[in-house]
Amino acid sequence: MTQKSENPYHELFTKQKVNQFKVAQSTYNERVNKLDALHRAIEITYREQIKEALSKDLGKPVIESELSEIYQILGDIRYVKKHLHKWMRKQKVHTPLSLLGSSSYYIYEPKGVCLIISPWNFPFNLTFGPLISAIAAGNTAIIKPSEMTPNSSALMATIIMDLFDKEEVALIEGKVEVSTKLLELPFNHIFFTGSPNVGKIVMTAAAKNLASVTLELGGKSPTIIDESANIKEASKKIVWGKFLNAGQICVSPDYILVDEKVRDEFIDSCKRWIKKFYSEDPKSSNAFARIVTPKHYNRLLGHLENAKSHNAKIVVGGEFDENTKFIAPTIVTDLNTDATLLNEEIFGPIMPIISYTNLDEAIAYINSKERPLALYVYSKKKSNIKKVISSTRAGGTCINNNVIHYANHNLPFGGTNNSGIGKSHGFFGFKAFSNQRAVVKQNFFGATEFLFPPYDGIKEKMAKLVVKWL
Ligand code: NAD
Repeated sequence: MTQKSENPYHELFTKQKVNQFKVAQSTYNERVNKLDALHRAIEITYREQIKEALSKDLGKPVIESELSEIYQILGDIRYVKKHLHKWMRKQKVHTPLSLLGSSSYYIYEPKGVCLIISPWNFPFNLTFGPLISAIAAGNTAIIKPSEMTPNSSALMATIIMDLFDKEEVALIEGKVEVSTKLLELPFNHIFFTGSPNVGKIVMTAAAKNLASVTLELGGKSPTIIDESANIKEASKKIVWGKFLNAGQICVSPDYILVDEKVRDEFIDSCKRWIKKFYSEDPKSSNAFARIVTPKHYNRLLGHLENAKSHNAKIVVGGEFDENTKFIAPTIVTDLNTDATLLNEEIFGPIMPIISYTNLDEAIAYINSKERPLALYVYSKKKSNIKKVISSTRAGGTCINNNVIHYANHNLPFGGTNNSGIGKSHGFFGFKAFSNQRAVVKQNFFGATEFLFPPYDGIKEKMAKLVVKWL
């Protein structure tokens, strides 16, 4: 392992470490001022540049940039500001009779020096989202955004430099080597958003310093459509959720499990919605994004090649264009169980459809895979919805919709096991960046003093009473 002094980020880390208590002792108003500055930067100063960077990096449609990046960050700041005062207060708790004479509470104190590593698919939202929680909780932070979206990362570096001293918040651009070096440092908390494979690398590095982690990962999020579902509505929402950001969303419905009785109706309806949303020629649509890099474009074409080689059917789309990294909204059926589309996170505009004959079969299929970040169920039958939720595990679920649970700040967001560890958003994000410090205050003579040594018969009797009654 590299000596700390050889680590190029050791000096910056040390400066933040020294500064952490000053930042931690910031008042509610001081933290709000920082959040306000970030709000102004996103809403006014840099708004147009953000949309421009997203268009260059991802071909992201302007409305999607407004809604899924700018609005999310601004909404997050407004929500945190509204509740932060309450979260920063002492949280009083009951004290048992056995501790008579004392009172108890806990406080959310900042973890300290935090590392935020973010992905490329919603570069601003997934970098500033955790940063908002880190600031609200009173931490210092070093940020490493994704190298895949260089225009967005460069702009974020400018914004951070504009708003913060590097002793408090610093952003370092770079590739994997930069993350690797940063991960050697003994951060108090690491907030990572990205793939499960890299999540394992991050957790291994964190273990060396026993740093706590929040891992916001991905995976394959299934969708179940039973025979009672409103197919027209379900297909509309699924086409929107699946092809938003060209499928490059962690909570995108990765694959569809549909009751065979309504399979054809569902596919026909999806075809109609794709045409309605993106026209006959999605390539010319201003509502459809592009694949982030040639590497990911080729990865997705590889999935289609693999599917074709096993006689799967492309029933919608399948067109692509290397120059613009365009892949059309695509639906694939009749896949082998070992097709790569059914075994790797797709993260692109390709929707595999699997039909089932009974719900238990669909549930068993889901449970044979890693636990997903999201699971969606479309049904009019309460008993089926209940069964799906109680017989599976997932980070989050929408009933008769998809993706939108991400947008409710009151809900915890995050996965379970392979799809993540820990939660983010709103209070849950604040909590992720805080240590809950327990405090017991002795107010007057304490009942425990009756039990101090030397032990005699009376104390023995008292101990028995304590065990039995208190
Ligand atoms: P990724 O894991 O490849 O990269 C994420 C970050 O980790 C980047 O900043 C990258 O530079 C860094 N990184 C990559 N390899 C590394 C290594 N070996 N060591 C240290 N750092 C490394 O993920 P991605 O391609 O940027 O994003 C796509 C993945 O992220 C998908 O799996 C998706 O589901 C997931 N994701 C999850 C969420 C969520 O909130 N749960 C949100 C968006 C994306």
